[in-house]
Amino acid sequence: MLERLREQLAEREAQHTRRRLRISMGPCQPQLQVARAELQGGDELAPQASETKALLAFCSNDYLGLANHPELINAWAEGARLYGVGSGASHLISGHSAAHAQLESELGHMQAPFIPGARALYFSTGYMANLAVLTALGSSDATLFCDKLNHASLIDGALLAAAKVQRYPNADMERLAYQLQQCTTPLKLIVTDAVFSMDGSVAPLRELLRLAEAHDAWVVVDDAHGFGVLGERGQGSLAYCGVGGERFIYMGTLGKAAGVAGAFVAAHPVIIEWLINAGRSYIYTTASSPAQAHALLTSLRLIQSEEGVARRAHLGALIQRLRSSPDSPWAQRGWRWAESITAIQPLMVGDNASTLALSAQLEQQGLWVPAIRPPTVPIGTARLRITLSASHTAADVDQLLAALANAAMGAM
Ligand SMILES: *Cc1c(COP(=O)(O)O)cnc(C)c1O
Repeated sequence: MLERLREQLAEREAQHTRRRLRISMGPCQPQLQVARAELQGGDELAPQASETKALLAFCSNDYLGLANHPELINAWAEGARLYGVGSGASHLISGHSAAHAQLESELGHMQAPFIPGARALYFSTGYMANLAVLTALGSSDATLFCDKLNHASLIDGALLAAAKVQRYPNADMERLAYQLQQCTTPLKLIVTDAVFSMDGSVAPLRELLRLAEAHDAWVVVDDAHGFGVLGERGQGSLAYCGVGGERFIYMGTLGKAAGVAGAFVAAHPVIIEWLINAGRSYIYTTASSPAQAHALLTSLRLIQSEEGVARRAHLGALIQRLRSSPDSPWAQRGWRWAESITAIQPLMVGDNASTLALSAQLEQQGLWVPAIRPPTVPIGTARLRITLSASHTAADVDQLLAALANAAMGAM
Protein backbone atom coordinates (compact mmCIF):
# COMPACT_ATOMS: atom_id res chain seq x y z
CA MET A 1 0.00 0.00 0.00
CA LEU A 2 2.77 2.49 0.87
CA GLU A 3 4.23 2.16 -2.64
CA ARG A 4 0.84 2.95 -4.13
CA LEU A 5 0.31 5.94 -1.87
CA ARG A 6 3.77 7.31 -2.77
CA GLU A 7 2.88 7.03 -6.45
CA GLN A 8 -0.43 8.78 -5.92
CA LEU A 9 1.26 11.57 -3.99
CA ALA A 10 3.80 11.98 -6.80
CA GLU A 11 0.96 12.15 -9.29
CA ARG A 12 -0.67 14.92 -7.30
CA GLU A 13 2.67 16.71 -7.14
CA ALA A 14 2.86 16.60 -10.95
CA GLN A 15 -0.68 17.97 -11.26
CA HIS A 16 0.04 20.76 -8.78
CA THR A 17 -2.64 19.45 -6.42
CA ARG A 18 -0.49 18.05 -3.62
CA ARG A 19 -1.29 19.67 -0.30
CA ARG A 20 1.23 20.57 2.38
CA LEU A 21 0.89 21.65 5.97
CA ARG A 22 2.34 24.88 7.25
CA ILE A 23 2.86 25.67 10.88
CA SER A 24 1.74 28.99 12.30
CA MET A 25 3.74 29.90 15.37
CA GLY A 26 1.44 32.35 17.15
CA PRO A 27 -2.22 33.35 17.47
CA CYS A 28 -4.56 33.81 14.49
CA GLN A 29 -3.99 37.37 13.21
CA PRO A 30 -2.94 39.03 9.92
CA GLN A 31 0.77 39.12 10.86
CA LEU A 32 1.95 35.55 11.16
CA GLN A 33 5.21 33.75 11.80
CA VAL A 34 4.97 30.71 9.58
CA ALA A 35 7.14 27.63 9.21
CA ARG A 36 7.01 24.95 6.56
CA ALA A 37 6.18 21.57 7.95
CA GLU A 38 9.30 19.80 6.69
CA LEU A 39 9.59 16.07 6.61
CA GLN A 40 12.69 15.22 8.63
CA GLY A 41 14.55 12.10 7.60
CA GLY A 42 12.37 10.79 4.79
CA ASP A 43 8.62 10.50 4.69
CA GLU A 44 8.18 8.25 7.71
CA LEU A 45 8.59 10.90 10.37
CA ALA A 46 6.13 13.55 11.47
CA PRO A 47 6.63 17.06 10.10
CA GLN A 48 8.61 19.54 12.19
CA ALA A 49 8.81 23.28 12.01
CA SER A 50 11.67 24.62 9.91
CA GLU A 51 12.87 28.25 10.04
CA THR A 52 10.02 30.71 10.35
CA LYS A 53 9.23 33.71 8.20
CA ALA A 54 6.88 36.64 8.66
CA LEU A 55 3.86 36.77 6.34
CA LEU A 56 0.83 39.04 6.07
CA ALA A 57 -2.02 36.56 5.79
CA PHE A 58 -5.25 36.81 3.79
CA CYS A 59 -6.50 33.32 4.43
CA SER A 60 -8.25 32.96 7.77
CA ASN A 61 -12.01 32.83 8.27
CA ASP A 62 -11.66 34.91 11.43
CA TYR A 63 -13.75 37.57 9.70
CA LEU A 64 -14.32 39.80 12.73
CA GLY A 65 -10.84 39.39 14.18
CA LEU A 66 -12.16 37.78 17.37
CA ALA A 67 -9.94 34.66 17.49
CA ASN A 68 -7.30 36.49 19.52
CA HIS A 69 -9.59 39.02 21.26
CA PRO A 70 -8.51 39.72 24.88
CA GLU A 71 -12.08 39.49 26.21
CA LEU A 72 -12.49 36.06 24.63
CA ILE A 73 -9.18 34.86 26.01
CA ASN A 74 -10.30 35.98 29.48
CA ALA A 75 -13.70 34.35 29.02
CA TRP A 76 -12.09 31.04 28.06
CA ALA A 77 -9.81 31.19 31.10
CA GLU A 78 -12.80 32.02 33.29
CA GLY A 79 -14.71 29.10 31.75
CA ALA A 80 -11.83 26.77 32.55
CA ARG A 81 -11.84 27.91 36.17
CA LEU A 82 -15.61 27.40 36.42
CA TYR A 83 -15.94 24.10 34.55
CA GLY A 84 -12.45 22.66 34.11
CA VAL A 85 -11.21 21.91 30.61
CA GLY A 86 -12.88 18.66 29.60
CA SER A 87 -16.55 17.72 29.44
CA GLY A 88 -15.77 14.08 30.29
CA ALA A 89 -18.60 12.51 28.30
CA SER A 90 -20.98 12.89 25.40
CA HIS A 91 -23.91 15.31 25.72
CA LEU A 92 -26.45 12.55 26.37
CA ILE A 93 -24.37 10.93 29.10
CA SER A 94 -23.03 13.60 31.46
CA GLY A 95 -21.12 16.02 29.22
CA HIS A 96 -23.87 18.61 28.70
CA SER A 97 -22.92 21.50 31.00
CA ALA A 98 -24.76 24.65 32.07
CA ALA A 99 -22.45 26.56 29.72
CA HIS A 100 -23.62 24.48 26.73
CA ALA A 101 -27.26 24.94 27.76
CA GLN A 102 -26.94 28.71 28.12
CA LEU A 103 -25.12 28.99 24.80
CA GLU A 104 -27.91 27.05 23.07
CA SER A 105 -30.53 29.24 24.65
CA GLU A 106 -28.82 32.43 23.40
CA LEU A 107 -28.25 31.01 19.92
CA GLY A 108 -31.93 30.05 19.78
CA HIS A 109 -32.93 33.61 20.74
CA MET A 110 -30.64 35.03 18.08
CA GLN A 111 -32.32 33.05 15.25
CA ALA A 112 -35.89 33.17 16.65
CA PRO A 113 -36.74 36.42 14.84
CA PHE A 114 -36.24 34.47 11.60
CA ILE A 115 -37.30 30.95 12.56
CA PRO A 116 -40.30 31.36 14.89
CA GLY A 117 -39.85 29.50 18.19
CA ALA A 118 -36.40 28.28 17.12
CA ARG A 119 -34.39 26.15 19.47
CA ALA A 120 -30.65 25.63 18.97
CA LEU A 121 -28.35 22.65 19.40
CA TYR A 122 -24.61 23.08 19.82
CA PHE A 123 -22.18 20.77 17.97
CA SER A 124 -18.41 20.32 18.27
CA THR A 125 -17.87 21.24 14.60
CA GLY A 126 -19.84 22.37 11.58
CA TYR A 127 -18.79 19.22 9.76
CA MET A 128 -20.50 17.13 12.43
CA ALA A 129 -23.57 19.37 12.51
CA ASN A 130 -24.06 18.91 8.76
CA LEU A 131 -23.63 15.14 9.02
CA ALA A 132 -26.22 15.01 11.81
CA VAL A 133 -28.79 17.13 9.98
CA LEU A 134 -28.56 15.32 6.65
CA THR A 135 -28.40 11.77 8.05
CA ALA A 136 -31.08 12.28 10.73
CA LEU A 137 -33.54 14.06 8.41
CA GLY A 138 -32.54 12.43 5.12
CA SER A 139 -34.52 9.22 5.60
CA SER A 140 -35.09 6.72 2.80
CA ASP A 141 -38.40 8.37 1.88
CA ALA A 142 -36.70 11.75 1.41
CA THR A 143 -34.89 13.52 -1.43
CA LEU A 144 -32.05 15.94 -0.80
CA PHE A 145 -31.70 18.69 -3.43
CA CYS A 146 -28.09 19.87 -3.21
CA ASP A 147 -26.40 22.85 -4.82
CA LYS A 148 -23.35 21.60 -6.72
CA LEU A 149 -21.08 24.11 -4.97
CA ASN A 150 -22.04 22.94 -1.48
CA HIS A 151 -19.31 22.49 1.12
CA ALA A 152 -17.65 19.07 1.45
CA SER A 153 -19.38 18.46 4.80
CA LEU A 154 -22.81 18.78 3.13
CA ILE A 155 -21.67 16.52 0.31
CA ASP A 156 -20.48 13.90 2.80
CA GLY A 157 -23.68 14.20 4.82
CA ALA A 158 -25.73 13.61 1.68
CA LEU A 159 -23.57 10.57 0.80
CA LEU A 160 -24.15 9.08 4.25
CA ALA A 161 -27.90 9.74 4.26
CA ALA A 162 -30.41 7.10 3.20
CA ALA A 163 -32.22 9.73 1.12
CA LYS A 164 -32.09 10.07 -2.66
CA VAL A 165 -29.80 12.88 -3.76
CA GLN A 166 -30.30 15.29 -6.65
CA ARG A 167 -27.73 17.96 -7.46
CA TYR A 168 -28.48 21.22 -9.25
CA PRO A 169 -26.00 23.66 -10.84
CA ASN A 170 -25.00 26.51 -8.54
CA ALA A 171 -28.05 28.67 -7.69
CA ASP A 172 -29.94 27.39 -10.76
CA MET A 173 -33.54 27.92 -9.62
CA GLU A 174 -35.07 26.70 -12.86
CA ARG A 175 -33.30 23.39 -12.64
CA LEU A 176 -34.19 23.05 -8.95
CA ALA A 177 -37.85 23.84 -9.65
CA TYR A 178 -37.88 21.13 -12.32
CA GLN A 179 -36.30 18.59 -9.97
CA LEU A 180 -38.78 19.42 -7.20
CA GLN A 181 -41.66 19.08 -9.60
CA GLN A 182 -40.52 15.64 -10.75
CA CYS A 183 -39.90 14.41 -7.21
CA THR A 184 -42.25 11.79 -5.78
CA THR A 185 -40.81 11.22 -2.30
CA PRO A 186 -42.99 12.54 0.56
CA LEU A 187 -40.10 14.43 2.16
CA LYS A 188 -38.01 17.03 0.32
CA LEU A 189 -35.05 19.00 1.65
CA ILE A 190 -33.21 21.69 -0.28
CA VAL A 191 -29.61 21.87 0.95
CA THR A 192 -27.37 24.88 0.33
CA ASP A 193 -24.43 26.93 1.55
CA ALA A 194 -25.74 30.40 2.39
CA VAL A 195 -22.40 31.94 1.37
CA PHE A 196 -20.50 29.65 -0.99
CA SER A 197 -17.17 29.06 0.66
CA MET A 198 -14.89 29.20 -2.38
CA ASP A 199 -16.87 31.86 -4.30
CA GLY A 200 -18.16 34.25 -1.66
CA SER A 201 -21.53 34.52 -3.40
CA VAL A 202 -24.79 34.50 -1.41
CA ALA A 203 -27.41 31.82 -2.17
CA PRO A 204 -30.79 33.09 -3.42
CA LEU A 205 -32.51 32.31 -0.11
CA ARG A 206 -35.69 34.19 -1.00
CA GLU A 207 -36.20 32.18 -4.20
CA LEU A 208 -35.27 28.97 -2.39
CA LEU A 209 -37.96 29.66 0.21
CA ARG A 210 -40.51 30.38 -2.50
CA LEU A 211 -39.74 27.04 -4.16
CA ALA A 212 -39.85 25.27 -0.80
CA GLU A 213 -43.30 26.69 -0.12
CA ALA A 214 -44.54 25.78 -3.57
CA HIS A 215 -43.34 22.16 -3.25
CA ASP A 216 -43.73 21.63 0.49
CA ALA A 217 -39.97 21.27 1.01
CA TRP A 218 -37.57 22.26 3.79
CA VAL A 219 -34.46 24.42 3.38
CA VAL A 220 -31.20 23.44 5.09
CA VAL A 221 -28.94 26.49 5.14
CA ASP A 222 -25.22 26.25 5.96
CA ASP A 223 -24.24 29.74 7.10
CA ALA A 224 -20.61 29.04 8.03
CA HIS A 225 -19.49 32.24 6.28
CA GLY A 226 -22.51 34.42 7.04
CA PHE A 227 -23.10 34.00 10.75
CA GLY A 228 -21.49 36.91 12.61
CA VAL A 229 -20.70 38.76 9.38
CA LEU A 230 -24.03 39.38 7.62
CA GLY A 231 -27.06 41.09 9.11
CA GLU A 232 -27.27 44.29 11.17
CA ARG A 233 -26.29 42.46 14.37
CA GLY A 234 -24.41 39.58 12.76
CA GLN A 235 -27.38 37.21 12.92
CA GLY A 236 -26.40 35.86 9.50
CA SER A 237 -27.80 35.24 6.06
CA LEU A 238 -31.48 34.93 6.97
CA ALA A 239 -31.32 38.45 8.39
CA TYR A 240 -29.27 39.69 5.42
CA CYS A 241 -31.75 38.27 2.88
CA GLY A 242 -34.77 39.29 4.96
CA VAL A 243 -36.28 35.81 4.94
CA GLY A 244 -37.51 33.42 7.58
CA GLY A 245 -40.04 30.82 8.54
CA GLU A 246 -40.38 27.36 10.01
CA ARG A 247 -39.14 25.74 6.81
CA PHE A 248 -35.55 26.83 7.51
CA ILE A 249 -33.10 24.52 9.23
CA TYR A 250 -30.19 26.83 9.95
CA MET A 251 -26.58 25.73 10.60
CA GLY A 252 -24.08 28.34 11.76
CA THR A 253 -20.44 27.74 12.68
CA LEU A 254 -18.62 29.31 15.60
CA GLY A 255 -14.99 28.80 14.56
CA LYS A 256 -15.06 31.42 11.81
CA ALA A 257 -16.50 34.89 12.51
CA ALA A 258 -17.31 33.89 16.10
CA GLY A 259 -13.59 33.29 16.56
CA VAL A 260 -13.73 30.15 18.72
CA ALA A 261 -14.92 26.70 17.56
CA GLY A 262 -18.04 24.59 17.20
CA ALA A 263 -21.34 25.06 15.40
CA PHE A 264 -25.07 25.04 15.98
CA VAL A 265 -28.32 24.11 14.32
CA ALA A 266 -31.33 26.36 14.90
CA ALA A 267 -34.73 25.03 13.87
CA HIS A 268 -38.22 24.09 15.01
CA PRO A 269 -37.99 22.45 18.48
CA VAL A 270 -39.28 19.11 17.16
CA ILE A 271 -36.44 18.99 14.63
CA ILE A 272 -33.92 19.74 17.37
CA GLU A 273 -35.40 17.01 19.56
CA TRP A 274 -35.04 14.59 16.66
CA LEU A 275 -31.37 15.56 16.13
CA ILE A 276 -30.70 14.86 19.84
CA ASN A 277 -32.23 11.41 19.37
CA ALA A 278 -31.02 10.46 15.91
CA GLY A 279 -28.03 12.64 15.02
CA ARG A 280 -25.20 10.14 15.28
CA SER A 281 -22.43 12.75 15.01
CA TYR A 282 -24.12 14.53 17.93
CA ILE A 283 -24.71 11.44 20.06
CA TYR A 284 -21.52 9.43 19.65
CA THR A 285 -18.89 12.00 20.44
CA THR A 286 -17.54 13.65 23.57
CA ALA A 287 -19.07 17.05 24.21
CA SER A 288 -16.62 19.87 23.50
CA SER A 289 -15.09 21.70 26.43
CA PRO A 290 -17.61 23.64 28.52
CA ALA A 291 -14.96 26.37 28.80
CA GLN A 292 -15.28 26.77 25.05
CA ALA A 293 -19.05 27.16 25.32
CA HIS A 294 -18.50 29.70 28.09
CA ALA A 295 -16.11 31.69 25.87
CA LEU A 296 -18.67 31.59 23.06
CA LEU A 297 -21.18 33.44 25.25
CA THR A 298 -18.78 36.40 25.21
CA SER A 299 -18.30 35.97 21.48
CA LEU A 300 -22.07 36.20 20.86
CA ARG A 301 -22.22 39.31 23.03
CA LEU A 302 -19.36 40.93 21.04
CA ILE A 303 -20.94 40.01 17.69
CA GLN A 304 -24.22 41.71 18.63
CA SER A 305 -22.63 44.71 20.41
CA GLU A 306 -21.68 48.13 19.05
CA GLU A 307 -18.14 46.79 18.77
CA GLY A 308 -19.49 44.06 16.50
CA VAL A 309 -21.29 46.66 14.39
CA ALA A 310 -18.07 48.68 14.10
CA ARG A 311 -16.03 45.59 13.17
CA ARG A 312 -18.50 44.67 10.41
CA ALA A 313 -18.42 48.27 9.11
CA HIS A 314 -14.61 48.22 9.00
CA LEU A 315 -14.66 44.86 7.20
CA GLY A 316 -17.17 46.28 4.70
CA ALA A 317 -14.87 49.24 4.02
CA LEU A 318 -11.92 46.89 3.40
CA ILE A 319 -13.98 44.82 0.94
CA GLN A 320 -14.92 48.03 -0.91
CA ARG A 321 -11.28 49.14 -1.00
CA LEU A 322 -10.11 45.83 -2.44
CA ARG A 323 -12.78 45.63 -5.11
CA SER A 324 -12.76 49.25 -6.18
CA SER A 325 -9.04 49.32 -6.93
CA PRO A 326 -8.53 51.13 -10.25
CA ASP A 327 -8.23 49.16 -13.47
CA SER A 328 -5.41 46.88 -12.73
CA PRO A 329 -2.69 45.11 -14.67
CA TRP A 330 -4.11 41.72 -13.72
CA ALA A 331 -7.26 42.29 -15.78
CA GLN A 332 -5.05 41.98 -18.89
CA ARG A 333 -3.81 38.67 -17.60
CA GLY A 334 -7.38 37.42 -17.50
CA TRP A 335 -7.54 37.34 -13.73
CA ARG A 336 -10.82 38.69 -12.44
CA TRP A 337 -12.71 39.21 -9.19
CA ALA A 338 -15.52 36.79 -8.47
CA GLU A 339 -18.98 38.31 -7.88
CA SER A 340 -18.92 38.64 -4.11
CA ILE A 341 -20.01 41.16 -1.52
CA THR A 342 -18.70 39.06 1.35
CA ALA A 343 -15.34 38.77 3.11
CA ILE A 344 -14.45 35.94 0.70
CA GLN A 345 -12.96 37.68 -2.36
CA PRO A 346 -11.64 35.11 -4.84
CA LEU A 347 -9.40 36.25 -7.66
CA MET A 348 -10.19 33.82 -10.49
CA VAL A 349 -7.07 32.69 -12.38
CA GLY A 350 -7.95 29.42 -14.14
CA ASP A 351 -5.24 26.81 -14.35
CA ASN A 352 -3.51 25.19 -11.39
CA ALA A 353 0.09 26.02 -12.28
CA SER A 354 -0.51 29.77 -12.81
CA THR A 355 -2.50 29.98 -9.60
CA LEU A 356 0.25 28.28 -7.64
CA ALA A 357 2.85 30.53 -9.30
CA LEU A 358 0.86 33.63 -8.37
CA SER A 359 0.50 32.48 -4.78
CA ALA A 360 4.28 31.86 -4.69
CA GLN A 361 5.01 35.32 -6.14
CA LEU A 362 2.86 36.90 -3.45
CA GLU A 363 4.68 34.89 -0.84
CA GLN A 364 8.00 36.25 -2.11
CA GLN A 365 6.53 39.68 -1.39
CA GLY A 366 5.64 38.66 2.16
CA LEU A 367 1.97 37.77 1.64
CA TRP A 368 0.12 34.55 2.31
CA VAL A 369 -2.84 34.03 -0.02
CA PRO A 370 -3.79 30.41 -0.66
CA ALA A 371 -4.21 28.93 -4.14
CA ILE A 372 -7.42 26.88 -4.25
CA ARG A 373 -7.34 24.10 -6.83
CA PRO A 374 -9.42 21.13 -7.89
CA PRO A 375 -10.91 18.99 -6.46
CA THR A 376 -11.92 21.74 -4.00
CA VAL A 377 -13.17 23.80 -6.97
CA PRO A 378 -14.16 22.71 -10.52
CA ILE A 379 -11.34 21.99 -12.99
CA GLY A 380 -10.19 25.13 -14.81
CA THR A 381 -11.36 27.49 -12.05
CA ALA A 382 -8.31 27.57 -9.78
CA ARG A 383 -8.22 30.80 -7.85
CA LEU A 384 -6.62 32.80 -5.09
CA ARG A 385 -8.99 32.73 -2.15
CA ILE A 386 -8.47 36.10 -0.51
CA THR A 387 -10.29 36.51 2.77
CA LEU A 388 -10.47 39.78 4.63
CA SER A 389 -10.85 40.27 8.36
CA ALA A 390 -11.76 43.21 10.55
CA SER A 391 -8.25 42.86 11.96
CA HIS A 392 -6.75 43.92 8.61
CA THR A 393 -5.98 47.59 8.02
CA ALA A 394 -6.48 49.66 4.86
CA ALA A 395 -2.67 49.61 4.50
CA ASP A 396 -2.74 45.79 4.53
CA VAL A 397 -5.22 45.82 1.64
CA ASP A 398 -3.09 48.36 -0.27
CA GLN A 399 -0.06 46.12 0.22
CA LEU A 400 -1.99 43.19 -1.25
CA LEU A 401 -3.15 45.25 -4.24
CA ALA A 402 0.41 46.45 -4.90
CA ALA A 403 1.77 42.91 -4.69
CA LEU A 404 -0.91 41.64 -7.11
CA ALA A 405 -0.03 44.41 -9.56
CA ASN A 406 3.65 43.51 -9.28
CA ALA A 407 2.94 39.86 -9.85
CA ALA A 408 0.76 40.62 -12.89
CA MET A 409 3.38 42.85 -14.47
CA GLY A 410 6.20 40.46 -13.66
CA ALA A 411 4.34 37.67 -15.36
CA MET A 412 3.62 39.63 -18.56
C1 LIG B 1 -15.98 25.58 7.51
C2 LIG B 1 -17.25 25.08 6.95
C3 LIG B 1 -17.95 24.04 7.53
C4 LIG B 1 -17.37 23.20 8.63
O1 LIG B 1 -17.39 23.87 9.85
P1 LIG B 1 -16.31 23.46 10.93
O2 LIG B 1 -16.85 24.01 12.20
O3 LIG B 1 -15.03 24.06 10.51
O4 LIG B 1 -16.27 21.95 10.94
C5 LIG B 1 -19.19 23.71 7.03
N1 LIG B 1 -19.70 24.37 5.97
C6 LIG B 1 -19.05 25.38 5.37
C7 LIG B 1 -19.68 26.08 4.21
C8 LIG B 1 -17.79 25.75 5.83
O5 LIG B 1 -17.12 26.73 5.22
